[in-house]
Amino acid sequence: MDEKLKSRKISEIFECEEGSRVAIRGWVYRFRDLGDKVFLVVRDSSGVIQVVFEGEGATEARLVDVEASVFVIGRVRSDKRAPGGKEIAGEAMELLGPSHNFPITRDISREFLLDVRHLWVRSRRMQSMMKIRHTVFGALHGYFRENGYYEVHAPMFITAAVEGGATLFPVKYVDGSTVYLTQSSQFYLEALIFSLEKVYTIAPSFRAEKSRTRRHLTEFWHCEAEVAWATLDDIMQVEEDLIWYVVQKVLEENQDELKSLGRRLERLEQCKPPFYRISYDEALELLSMKGVSIKWGDDLGADEERLLVEEFDKPVFVHRYPEKVKAFYHKSDPKRPEVTLSADLLAPEGYGEIIGGGERVDNLDELISKIKKFGLRPEDYAWYLDLRKYGSVPHSGFGLGVDRTVMWIAGLDHITDALPFPRTLRRVYP
Ligand code: ATP
Ligand code: MG
Repeated sequence: MDEKLKSRKISEIFECEEGSRVAIRGWVYRFRDLGDKVFLVVRDSSGVIQVVFEGEGATEARLVDVEASVFVIGRVRSDKRAPGGKEIAGEAMELLGPSHNFPITRDISREFLLDVRHLWVRSRRMQSMMKIRHTVFGALHGYFRENGYYEVHAPMFITAAVEGGATLFPVKYVDGSTVYLTQSSQFYLEALIFSLEKVYTIAPSFRAEKSRTRRHLTEFWHCEAEVAWATLDDIMQVEEDLIWYVVQKVLEENQDELKSLGRRLERLEQCKPPFYRISYDEALELLSMKGVSIKWGDDLGADEERLLVEEFDKPVFVHRYPEKVKAFYHKSDPKRPEVTLSADLLAPEGYGEIIGGGERVDNLDELISKIKKFGLRPEDYAWYLDLRKYGSVPHSGFGLGVDRTVMWIAGLDHITDALPFPRTLRRVYP
């Protein structure tokens, strides 16, 4: 083999002049042996290209199978029938890592693909999703860093619940005591605003979600921000700017991936702010016009959210949820104490909630009475209460589910399609 010829990314081959001698390395995506000719479609992280071997050259190529790794040398040739208009006329091939009977063939069920995720991650679908996901994470960091936020990190082992006990994962700690995996970094972010004012984090959260839905993982990536002095309106503005920033970045950087996933770009392009804003009360009215009656005070579930977002062509905030459906730390609206200064952001096209947030209770006595009202014990929240004892300030924040956001942006059917190795109620393998 011609070792001097440096291998190139497959995407670069399409830029090469006809007749250039090139080398590539990658994996065999498809393989067809027509006797006198052998067709290989080779893929790498950048794309796929067809390589055609004829006569003598075909002998080595005949030894490969799907997903074998190969080094190929050949000349670039234009061919109208080839995807991308170019192919490689193969001259030499080295089989680097053989592959036999790659288990993923046609007719593949969703469960099977989850069982072989360690191999399915090579598929074009997963590759496209992961490239979009990469952009989403980068854009989240980009937005916060450009807007004066500090990135902070909260612990994963905790002793008290944020969201309530039912969905906590207990862990046996080194000293034999029971600690829990975090469900949200919010309380720690609240502590940190007293130092840094505007903070964010992107970290896993763990919730023992008992219900099997298309939008719940037991381990998900949580992007949380907390801002000193901010009101509900301020924080909704941040959420809206953030989402549009992320969507624009994906539209800039992932056109090919979006198309390969069959995503209609217009659906994202139209998500330009301002987003819609409706109150919980208005949401109930809309639902009742659609024939669904929800009792005032009940939460909106995934089904109700799906119906509701049918009415909107871009994300919609639902604000001022009743006190009892939101966690105790949500501040009551002084004009209407039975509702909270909270807002969920629902994504269009049936996706529903991707962000939950709002203004936090900042008064000590009010927080203590809220904790009690929710049947919890103030002594379990001792350090959190301290934050209201020493220079308390009004503040707001939110939590965005990154996997759910990727699911919506990429137009995926199920949250387990939005990350490489999903953890759900029934799955912790591979
Ligand atoms: P839901 O009602 O859908 O369970 P939630 O009200 O429990 O959501 P929050 O506690 O507000 O959600 O969490 C903030 C964000 O984190 C949600 O808007 C969502 O995007 C994401 N999220 C929450 N739970 C999960 C989960 N189990 N899997 C994936 N993402 C989640
Ligand atoms: Mg939940």
